[in-house]
Amino acid sequence: MNEDIKNLILQKIESYNTIIISRHIRPDGDAVGSTKGFVKLLKDTYPAKEIYLVDEDFSDYLAFCGAEDTVTDDVYENALLIVIDTGTRKRISNSKYPLAKEIIKIDHHIEADPYGDINWVEDFRSSACEMIADFCLTFRDRLKMSAEAATFIYLGMVTDSGRFRFEGVTGETMRLAGALLEYGVDYETLFAHLYTEDLGALKLKSYVYDHIHITKNGVASIYMDAAIQQKFHLTLEEASNVVGELSDIKGSLIWVAFIENTEKQQIRVRLRSRFLGINDLAIKYHGGGHNMAAGATVYSVEEMNALVEDADRLLGEYKANHEGWL
Ligand code: AMP
Repeated sequence: MNEDIKNLILQKIESYNTIIISRHIRPDGDAVGSTKGFVKLLKDTYPAKEIYLVDEDFSDYLAFCGAEDTVTDDVYENALLIVIDTGTRKRISNSKYPLAKEIIKIDHHIEADPYGDINWVEDFRSSACEMIADFCLTFRDRLKMSAEAATFIYLGMVTDSGRFRFEGVTGETMRLAGALLEYGVDYETLFAHLYTEDLGALKLKSYVYDHIHITKNGVASIYMDAAIQQKFHLTLEEASNVVGELSDIKGSLIWVAFIENTEKQQIRVRLRSRFLGINDLAIKYHGGGHNMAAGATVYSVEEMNALVEDADRLLGEYKANHEGWL
């Protein structure tokens, strides 16, 4: 079904001598895993080509994945740029992207900005890495998959799917993950990187659990203001990650983290849900994303409270009209 576009992408890759790969800003495991894995695979397959991984921001917690490249502007002139896991051009972690000769977008977010000359977008996929795995395994006779590349791609599959737990995980997800394991994924080291935490991080969790606010209908939220970020020495990305701590509260089907960004005078919103969608709510507050995982921006504490009230109303309506939620 997607064979034509995959063939077209492979033809493009084969026709360029210079290929640059980029991902989205504020990278997560899927963004880093998909790009790192794809670069490794392309370098192993095409040793004569110049292949670069270029981005402008990094996440400390993924530093174990290794460094990236720096290139001068002239390299873009004859380059194919492949942007992975990035829904909109605003989120590309490479401001030089318009300099590239051609752009291929490979993404699993709902299509909102087809910025590529070729756009391979499959929003039913649980991760961009699942698409990369599909691509690499479709052409397994022509592309050289190493254990290292497979481990990077597996990293994105396990993190973006919540360890194969979220909506979007299919039999195909598991078949592709299984195929990667056969290339020698080093999951023991990978999971040690993903799960071990220093004591400071555990103390932060303790703070978050103590300060969660729950509305009447069960919307859980936390406000990470600048003072708290300072107290725990958090980067904005680290503060944003607390959304994950709100996910397992019984009866709470919507959870939201608000992260104050004093530099931009705005509050970043990370919205998550189970059973009911929150994408429309995110869109109302200058954002968007997936049905059950979206982002938004508010500009005052009043707007933050209004968003929580809207979420509470949404959840109240859902609970009144549905059974079987936990
Ligand atoms: P995040 O909470 O940043 O992990 O966002 C969840 C998903 O929503 C991401 O995969 C993004 O694609 C999307 N997203 C986040 N922020 C925005 C935004 N301001 N506008 C549109 N989409 C967003």
